[in-house]
Amino acid sequence: MPKNSRPLRPVSPATQPVGEQMMGHNSDPVRALRPATQLVRGGLMRSNFDELSEAMYLTSGFVYDSAAQAEATFAGTETHYQYSRFGNPTVSMLEGRLAALEGAEACRATATGMAAVHSAMLSHLKAGDRVVASRALFGSCHWIVSTLLPRYGISTEFVDGSDLAQWRAALSRPATMVLLETPSNPMLEIVDLRTVCDLAHQAGALVVVDNVFATPLLQKPMDFGADIVVYSATKHFDGQGRVLGGCVMGSKKWVDEVLQPFIRNTGPSISAFNAWVILKGLETLHLRVPAMCRSASTIADMLAERAEVARVLYPFRADHPQQKLAMAQMSAGGTLVSFDIKGGKEACFRFMDALKLIDIANNLGDAKSMATHPATTTHMRVGAEERAKLGITDGTVRLSVGLEDVADLIDDLAEALDAAAS
Ligand SMILES: *Cc1c(COP(=O)(O)O)cnc(C)c1O
Repeated sequence: MPKNSRPLRPVSPATQPVGEQMMGHNSDPVRALRPATQLVRGGLMRSNFDELSEAMYLTSGFVYDSAAQAEATFAGTETHYQYSRFGNPTVSMLEGRLAALEGAEACRATATGMAAVHSAMLSHLKAGDRVVASRALFGSCHWIVSTLLPRYGISTEFVDGSDLAQWRAALSRPATMVLLETPSNPMLEIVDLRTVCDLAHQAGALVVVDNVFATPLLQKPMDFGADIVVYSATKHFDGQGRVLGGCVMGSKKWVDEVLQPFIRNTGPSISAFNAWVILKGLETLHLRVPAMCRSASTIADMLAERAEVARVLYPFRADHPQQKLAMAQMSAGGTLVSFDIKGGKEACFRFMDALKLIDIANNLGDAKSMATHPATTTHMRVGAEERAKLGITDGTVRLSVGLEDVADLIDDLAEALDAAAS
């Protein structure tokens, strides 16, 4: 038997463009298919063993038929997997599936969402560059912009994401990169993607959108002009609390020439095992996310009726300050609801401790519903002054709505609100 008698078919290099990704026996490009089909079949590559499910290639390295094949592979004249830090067939399947869903030319999966954000930025930026970011970012993204980038001689500036005048002022000078999140964590602020992308491009900047809260099912930032989209796959993509993961999507040229050399040489690569778990998670994303959105919307309405609640933030509710913009950019309001409990931290902690079903946790996008107190956890380190600018109070709760029966969630919330008031 020849050494490599069972090649994958189709053999897909780690950098294969999505348009050429095939699904099994069918030769239609995945891009032409609808999202639910892409989530189940996108990126699929079968080996000659004809397995039904995506295979998990738990291997750090790959072997060559000959020394000449190894030479040709390293010279780039032959396509062959080399080492799982550069590419791995299970990881390629995940990348193919995510790129097909997003409608992006290329995707690289990473070990975590933060590895994705960090790689997207550091692969592109150098000393002397300038970054403009919305203030309302995930805590670690905020740290990268406020603390890490300036250490390398990159100047950074924060703006209020919902204030176009601040974006206009900041982007009236040349910039290299813009980072934003919409809806934002935890106050569900919406950034006008089209306008900010136009301003950023006029300033010479690439726009990076952290689309974790919306997921690719609810919002496609590239349709509004975004150049790069990043995700934490830890959240809705896995969606069942098992593994960490992330991904970066962009043009094939940028991914091949800018991102891939950075990933190849610095090693934020995802393990084949975690990639496989996320691949299987994606197969139900189109069922989970709409169900979670429906429950979140019902819960937001229920909370708004309660005297113990000072304010509810949910992007599709009429009382959200940017409802119109949210509805123009997203197809549903999302899986998170934020709200303020009257009586500050004490009442808020009474409420959280009285929850019997909903867990106290700082994760989100999971089948299990979770409540977070941002002021003392995820946003503790940004400081009181920055929290005040973001609108986070000591009574703010961020609720990630899961897949339990919504009636049980409402009972749990109602009883805990009774407890908060007593
Ligand atoms: C969780 C999260 C991240 C970071 O992802 P990890 O997988 O935890 O590294 C980045 N941005 C947003 C909006 C997130 O919710």
